Amino acid sequence: MPKQLSLSNRRRVLVHGGAGGRRATAAQRKCIAETLALGIELLQNDQSALDAVETMIRHLEESGHFNAGVGSRQQLDGRQRMDAALMEGAFLRAGAVAGLEDICHPISAARIVMEKTDHVLVISSHASKLALHFGLERLEKSTKSPIQHRAPVFRTRNAKTLALYRKMAAYETVGAVALDECGTLATGASTGGVSMMLPGRVGDSPLVGAGVYADNEAGAVSMTGLGEGIIRLAMAKHIVCAMKNGQKPLPATRHALKLLVNRVQGEAGCLVLAPDGQFAIRHVTPWMIAGHWNGRGKPFVADQFR
Ligand code: ASP
Repeated sequence: MPKQLSLSNRRRVLVHGGAGGRRATAAQRKCIAETLALGIELLQNDQSALDAVETMIRHLEESGHFNAGVGSRQQLDGRQRMDAALMEGAFLRAGAVAGLEDICHPISAARIVMEKTDHVLVISSHASKLALHFGLERLEKSTKSPIQHRAPVFRTRNAKTLALYRKMAAYETVGAVALDECGTLATGASTGGVSMMLPGRVGDSPLVGAGVYADNEAGAVSMTGLGEGIIRLAMAKHIVCAMKNGQKPLPATRHALKLLVNRVQGEAGCLVLAPDGQFAIRHVTPWMIAGHWNGRGKPFVADQFR
């Protein structure tokens, strides 16, 4: 049994840039490593796990290397609509936005919902208005992302082609979890959604219990993958419940992913962090770009976790 880590030893951050059928680029790997360094630096300067998660996800959103913020893919009508959520495990506070347009940092919009309103989830133009009211930066239409997500609408009319297109695509959503020195866990996710989605489709990422969950008494989870299956199994809460019942992150994660595949033919990956610093990164897709760091040695980044 691994030893219980002392308080100051258990600071840790985990970050992912999505799971899917494509290997990560060198630029994405570099960005994940930078993000881990950013998160650990904040925790070492006594900032909270929530601050670390928000800042790390902001960095990924503005990089344009992922399907979030500036790099968000388009829905079938050609518009970017983004989803994001943030949750902390001490008081189970959460905030989320869905169908957000024209805002650079959806994760900060989620934090505004959590801290400045009595609500948990605000949608579409109302979420954008709220974000602008609190001074968030507008996403300029001309902002160029180094990744091109435009769906080839007219070439994907039949199911086989669509399935192939999905298989070849990487989801490239971003997520992070963190544990600070006070023992507080936090989680977040931010996404432009999945390829070939109908306008108005919302995935798991902004749904507390599906895409994200954090509870200091059990663990923190951030999911990525095809949102529909993740929602149907309330994956994040499912994993946290298993940990509350005494399971370690790895068996809890393996079991939940197996269930996802067997019950709903889902595909996903996740970051899972326990209050004692133990963690798991696992996926049932061919690839998942992710990393972890506790501030000692070098950040660890890989695109497969088996
Ligand atoms: N889970 C996200 C969604 O379904 C996509 C992803 O994780 O890449 O919207």
